[in-house]
Amino acid sequence: DDRFTVVIVGGGAAGITVAAQLHRRRPNLAIAVVEPSTTHAYQPGWTLVGAGVMSLAQTLRQEGGLIPEGVDWIRDRVVSFEPDANTVTLGSGRKLGYRRLVVCPGLQLDWDKIEGLPETLGRNGVTSNYSRETCAYTWQCIESLEGGTALFTQPPMPIKCAGAPQKIVYLAADHWRKRGTLHRTQVEFSLAGDVLFGVPYFVPALQKQMDYYGAHLHFKENLIRVDGAKREATFQRVGTDETVTRKFDMLHVTPPQSAPDFIKSSPLANAAGWVDVDPATLRHVKYEFIFGLGDVVGTSNAKTAAAARVQAPVVVDNLLASLDGRPIGAQYDGYGACPLTVSYGKVVLAEFLYGGKPAPSFPYDQRKPSRFAWMLKTQGFPRLYWQAMLKGIDVKVPHKAIKAD
Ligand code: FAD
Repeated sequence: DDRFTVVIVGGGAAGITVAAQLHRRRPNLAIAVVEPSTTHAYQPGWTLVGAGVMSLAQTLRQEGGLIPEGVDWIRDRVVSFEPDANTVTLGSGRKLGYRRLVVCPGLQLDWDKIEGLPETLGRNGVTSNYSRETCAYTWQCIESLEGGTALFTQPPMPIKCAGAPQKIVYLAADHWRKRGTLHRTQVEFSLAGDVLFGVPYFVPALQKQMDYYGAHLHFKENLIRVDGAKREATFQRVGTDETVTRKFDMLHVTPPQSAPDFIKSSPLANAAGWVDVDPATLRHVKYEFIFGLGDVVGTSNAKTAAAARVQAPVVVDNLLASLDGRPIGAQYDGYGACPLTVSYGKVVLAEFLYGGKPAPSFPYDQRKPSRFAWMLKTQGFPRLYWQAMLKGIDVKVPHKAIKAD
């Protein structure tokens, strides 16, 4: 019973989607999902939890209810890979054999790379939408702030949902604007990089929103230390030894992120630690029986659930072809999406492909803040996630590349 046709490492957005699609297409395949956690999170909802629009409970489901009937759930974690023997080793010491392996354990949040942060996170006005423990605290911080200084941070790329650090800037500022306290609130956004958003096509539209709220942007500033009791955050100016310390009344941190340690130290990793797959076929560049998708792969797309949704059918097609001994032909175009919540009620819906090519799905200028896109973000996408994507229903997106003007 320790051999499966397909073993899937991770039962998050990518893993459940692949398991469900494989099971739909080949009900008799012996499939195992290795996933230690018993609750599954719809992480894109955490931005809305942080803004008081959704409850944390609405973003969580029992993992056991999401594993497709007929697929084995192994409640353990993978600790190492033996690709030459076609096995993985679990925390318990048990080994699982496979004919094909799908690697999708997401990425790792490196909270402890910021001195003082783990001790104060969730208290002293220090919060983060990137953790299920604290995204609800973000809303408490926003609601209780009567003025003063609110700092928001963004670490070096790559991170998952690169737009999330700024989504909460807009929503917080919009809340304070409506309450009439924005004029006495200093909103500061420090980014380790030197651009507001990685896809240039959308930058002017987003900068306009930052200007509207009067937010101060500090580029090339990387958070390195937090003193919760003193309410001070220290940033390093990227590329120098210079530091700058800022006082805050509220601090929203986006933590540094990297490949999970057990991936970094495995033979599957590229030089930067991510799973080394072909950007089009998503098959491992060295091990032909291994596929990867989701946040853990080293491809240059935006690390989003939207990307995982479009990657999953490519992995499933290619994996089945390879099991059948047919050539693998499905190709991923680098699609990723980022619904930027620029106010309560409006979203700039960024959709793009490899190389930062804009690729809208809808027939309007998606740089314009839209109420329709807000409805998608708050109602449409969560439904799409739970009721179609995780059930293995492949909703084809009609996105099409356009020329950036
Ligand atoms: P995950 O969904 O994180 O799942 C990984 C799974 O692997 C987890 O269940 C974990 O327990 C498991 N795992 C870890 N280690 C092991 C191990 N050793 N063995 C076995 N299993 C393991 N995306 C969007 O598309 N749109 C958005 O608006 C958006 N907003 C976001 C806002 C926030 C605040 C955050 C945090 C994320 C957001 N995302 C958004 C990103 C999206 O959530 C991720 O890109 C997506 O969840 C990636 O799917 P995944 O399956 O690769 O990883």
